[in-house]
Amino acid sequence: MVPMIIRCGIPNASTIDRRFSMQLFGINLGKKRFEFRCSGCGKMHRGSPSISYPRPIQYYWIPEDERTQRIKDSDDFCIISHTSGTEEDLDFFIRGTLEIPIHGVDDPFIWGVWVSQSEANFERYLKTYDSDQTGLGSFGWLTVTMPYYNQSEPGEELANVECNVEWGAARPKIYVREYDHPLFFDQQNGLPWDKAVEIAQLALHVTDD
Ligand SMILES: [Zn+2]
Repeated sequence: MVPMIIRCGIPNASTIDRRFSMQLFGINLGKKRFEFRCSGCGKMHRGSPSISYPRPIQYYWIPEDERTQRIKDSDDFCIISHTSGTEEDLDFFIRGTLEIPIHGVDDPFIWGVWVSQSEANFERYLKTYDSDQTGLGSFGWLTVTMPYYNQSEPGEELANVECNVEWGAARPKIYVREYDHPLFFDQQNGLPWDKAVEIAQLALHVTDD
């Protein structure tokens, strides 16, 4: 007996089958993959951009020969010491991801950034770091320089951007608080394709000029 495949009268059923099988492999045909030919290097950059900062910008303000003495750091947190006279001040930072949707694209534009933390929140973050931190969170200031979004001097910290930091099972997720700043609007509304290309080109080749 020949097995029957019932196709319910859907036009062009082979297309539907193909779509279904591609979804099994995690390929979503409903949305596009982000890619563009870069005006910075002339190459195709494929996939949604992911720009990350290995350390907060304050790290680079410390002279290189003082860093071992004054900085305790890893890829996820950083403590910087400032001493004046006998007083020692400490600045605390944690790393997280700030995601900005791109219209019609599955994967967001990802910025791996740093936010400052109060001492109390930083200690709480470290204490819970090895467990699931879902539901926990904190407030932080962004402490990186972001091409396009940086409205202060080039190379300076992106000033005065307040964020909610949601800790979780992976790196903390960072959400810009409501504020008259393009970073807030873009995280809320997403980026049109062309604007995402413009920002990616700037960010990927920021050290070239
Ligand atoms: Zn490029």
